[in-house]
Amino acid sequence: HPRLGAARQAAALEGVAYAIAFRARRFDGAWRMLQEQTRVVHDAQGQVVGVEGIVQDITERVAAEERIHQLAFHDPLTGLPNRTLFERLADAALERAQRQGVTCAIVHIDLDRFKSVNDALGRDGGDTLLCQVAERLNGGLRDDDPVNPRGASQASDLVARAGGNAFTLLLFDVGAAKEMAGAVKRLLAGVTAPIAFGARQVVLAASAGIAMFPRDGRVAVDLSRYAEQALYEAKAAGRGQHRFFNKEMNAVASARLLLENDLRRAIPAGELHLYLQPKVDARSGAIIGAEALVRWAHPQRGMVPPGEFIPMAEETGLIVPLGDWVFETGCRYLRRWQAAGLPATPLSLNLSAPSFLKPGLAAELAETALRYGVEPEQITIEVTESMLMQDVERTVTRLNELRERGFGLSMDDFGTGYSSLSFLKRFPIDEIKIDRSFVRDAPRGGRDGALVAAVIGLGRRFGLRVVAEGVETEAQARYLIERGCSNQQGYLFARPMPSADFESLLASRAGLVGFDINVSEASA
Ligand code: C2E
Ligand code: CA
Ligand code: CA
Repeated sequence: HPRLGAARQAAALEGVAYAIAFRARRFDGAWRMLQEQTRVVHDAQGQVVGVEGIVQDITERVAAEERIHQLAFHDPLTGLPNRTLFERLADAALERAQRQGVTCAIVHIDLDRFKSVNDALGRDGGDTLLCQVAERLNGGLRDDDPVNPRGASQASDLVARAGGNAFTLLLFDVGAAKEMAGAVKRLLAGVTAPIAFGARQVVLAASAGIAMFPRDGRVAVDLSRYAEQALYEAKAAGRGQHRFFNKEMNAVASARLLLENDLRRAIPAGELHLYLQPKVDARSGAIIGAEALVRWAHPQRGMVPPGEFIPMAEETGLIVPLGDWVFETGCRYLRRWQAAGLPATPLSLNLSAPSFLKPGLAAELAETALRYGVEPEQITIEVTESMLMQDVERTVTRLNELRERGFGLSMDDFGTGYSSLSFLKRFPIDEIKIDRSFVRDAPRGGRDGALVAAVIGLGRRFGLRVVAEGVETEAQARYLIERGCSNQQGYLFARPMPSADFESLLASRAGLVGFDINVSEASA
């Protein structure tokens, strides 16, 4: 070993101690890592009299250190760098890019609806797919791969696992953002090409967010965050899309963050209100029930629509306390109506997935209802169709638990998910609500009209109550009544209103507008 020879000579001649690690081949042919460490021996006068030392086999120690390094900086499943290592390597690459004056991109890729893949294939199956995707992304950065965004890879390109089902890439020297769009499409196409899984083919969907260096930021942490914000927008725009980061997104993201903090305080501060929208028999205009819809009166922003804060509450977990509040408030209303001698009016409450999947939900809700002296039969719980399809096994169990306690169950937004007839049979539900997107165009016939008619027929066949939501025009109301669906809800009859208004309406015993038309036996 040349370095060793020189060091030994220097030690002998000049008394310079050394410690050198080197690789050596053992007699059995195995490579070992050795370390030779010396110390210089002096006599009483301080003269060098010799050099002594030891040689150690440090193979295991080095391997252990490497293992620790591997664990600390790599994702155990895919072996890809983790976020920490990615940021370090990316920062080094970005410094190089800075010196060379080239543009780079940080791309955040996330697999869409991966949870349902996990549910369908099991966790091990999901893991296998993630490894395949990791390999494809890695391969996509090699020259010979058609996925390669620029035709030629760069030594500084990086792929990392950013957690769960997300990956982060650094693409070095990418040219203009314009050209990047095509590149990212190809990258996504690589991920979404069918993957053989046993006998079947699995097709994944993915979305991407992109941040550009140096335009959007100069360090990896910032750029990763921006790419993630862009990804969020891409997902919101429908799946399988990509978005470039822009400054407005940053503003939106900080606004979201502020709103999130505000929402935490909204319940204790009493800023949430539970509005009620009547459900009517559209033939007589009689009130047959009400749906509770949450409203947030933000002290600065005014009314924040649920479409803005419910998804955020679901992501942050705030939906669970929010759902508890909604349920409790609904029970309070029911008790108050009873006490005031108002007509018994069933109440529908919306439940989001995190609340719905909470263990012990049925018992908890039954306990709350009991505390308010409310019969569970007076409460119908609305869950969306897409929610039910996320985890069918668990959902059926939960629905059965709720039903055993006496709660009514309704499948909301029916037609927008992808449940099939066979599932409808498996779900123990009492009611389906036809989504308003189908109600809107139903009177024009066409596909929506056919679907509405089919759902009404289906409901009858399975003995389910069918409610049409979002009824805005008389034409819609009549179309629905003629096809046998007179349970309706929508602006035509009444908008969601504060509970006090709803109570006056109940107290007046007056119905809402009705369309008492004759329906022939055949279609009714
Ligand atoms: P959803 O459960 O489908 O509720 C019906 C939505 O349609 C309500 O919007 C209601 O105001 C609106 N709507 C009713 N009639 C009409 C109509 O004739 N035309 C039109 N264009 N819209 C009509 P809202 O109150 O903005 O609620 C939106 C969504 O927010 C709800 O959709 C539900 O998914 C969610 N949400 C509302 N309150 C709660 C809640 O307490 N808990 C949970 N988890 N989600 C809630
Ligand atoms: Ca609903
Ligand atoms: Ca709905």
